[in-house]
Amino acid sequence: MPIRTVIEPFKIKTVEPIRWTTREEREPILARAHHNVFLIPADEILIDLLTDSGTAAMSTRQWASMMEGDESYAGSRSFVRFEAAVRDIFGYKHVIPTHQGRASERLLFTCLCKKGDVVPNNTHFDTTRANIEYQGAEAVDLVIPEGKDPGNRHPFKGNMDVEALAHLIERVGRERIPLVMLTVTNNSGGGQPVSIANARAVADLCHRHGIPLYFDACRFAENAYFIKLREPGYAGTTPKEIAREMFALGDGCTMSAKKDGLANIGGFLCTNDDALAQQEENLSILTEGYPTYGGLAGRDLEAIAVGLDEALEEDYLHYRISSTAYLGNHISAEGVPIVQPPGGHAIYIDARGFLPQIPPARFPGVALACELFLEGGIRAVEIGTLMFGAHAAMDLVRLAIPRRVYTQSHMDYVVEVILEVWKRRERIRGLELTYEAPFLRHFTAHLTPV
Ligand SMILES: *Cc1c(COP(=O)(O)O)cnc(C)c1O
Repeated sequence: MPIRTVIEPFKIKTVEPIRWTTREEREPILARAHHNVFLIPADEILIDLLTDSGTAAMSTRQWASMMEGDESYAGSRSFVRFEAAVRDIFGYKHVIPTHQGRASERLLFTCLCKKGDVVPNNTHFDTTRANIEYQGAEAVDLVIPEGKDPGNRHPFKGNMDVEALAHLIERVGRERIPLVMLTVTNNSGGGQPVSIANARAVADLCHRHGIPLYFDACRFAENAYFIKLREPGYAGTTPKEIAREMFALGDGCTMSAKKDGLANIGGFLCTNDDALAQQEENLSILTEGYPTYGGLAGRDLEAIAVGLDEALEEDYLHYRISSTAYLGNHISAEGVPIVQPPGGHAIYIDARGFLPQIPPARFPGVALACELFLEGGIRAVEIGTLMFGAHAAMDLVRLAIPRRVYTQSHMDYVVEVILEVWKRRERIRGLELTYEAPFLRHFTAHLTPV
């Protein structure tokens, strides 16, 4: 019998203590934070599942490579290594480093989009949408209908609705669509993957119309592993081969190295278009930095070069996807409603299903996030009425898993805390706002229980 237990494919060399608190201590901490977990100092959190962005643990190889960082302003050795590592996987002609994903988006959309344009995506991430709208263009989400149904277990819920894309091109005209984007995995859609077959169908349609296809590649390695597990014909293919096959379908990509770059900061922008790359590099010089460092230190470029390679290791991806699914499956087995199937980087709890007695206007997602902190010092984030206002289609609580940071026993602890809150769910009450900023209010809002 093959051994079935999935273990962390690393041993721990450096430890960072986390701080235990009692419920008596957490109550005043939450009150001082006005019941908004963004306002709790990180030192007062035991398990921090606020985001998987920039929170990865780096490897010995990454730390060692950082000592080799060449901090030359122009043409540094570290850039040469970074560029080679990116090209090896992504295969695009031009590689422009940036300080993080949204900087790549700004360069790309400033050069390609103008007022009145339309940019389709499976689901735009919030910074992607904001950068498109900042250019006066319209960001359109075209995920398949299954992707909008939390209980549907479709294997590739991140897929784009190809027919809807064809209709959109017909309706607005090719001239108004400067590019199509495909986000892998679909972060805002629950961390759900996109299949190679779907990416190919989207690419064929784009190229028939002469429209460039760009990938938002933040979680490309997790997406490649889902393809290996779920798409017919890919079981014997390596994640790296799958990633290469997918990127060969496109004309470029934007990337946040804070996700599947396994780095704490960084990103890049790729394209095969010479004239566009020149424009982007000129714009980068204006605000990011010289195109061989793009706002990063040489040591950051080194850490990303190694991180991209490690993110594609099968042992790592097996542990990564299993550990997210482990959390989701264990709480779901006890009846906790979650977005199915578990995504790559996070579990999303359906707070309206968890707390049906709390109407959306009383912020069920915020109430649940507060209870997770009170019960066990866990920080998760509401994605619902506080974040999006009355238009929120769902009230979700996202538990994002930082890469290589927490072990199986941390996940067991998180499961136990969630199930304790689940047992006493009927006694949980909602909240009301006492302060809100005019935009992006979720970051700074004050709330009080009612
Ligand atoms: C995080 C993210 C971005 C933006 O990257 P930053 O590094 O946070 O600026 C863009 N798209 C997706 C899908 C993301 O998850």
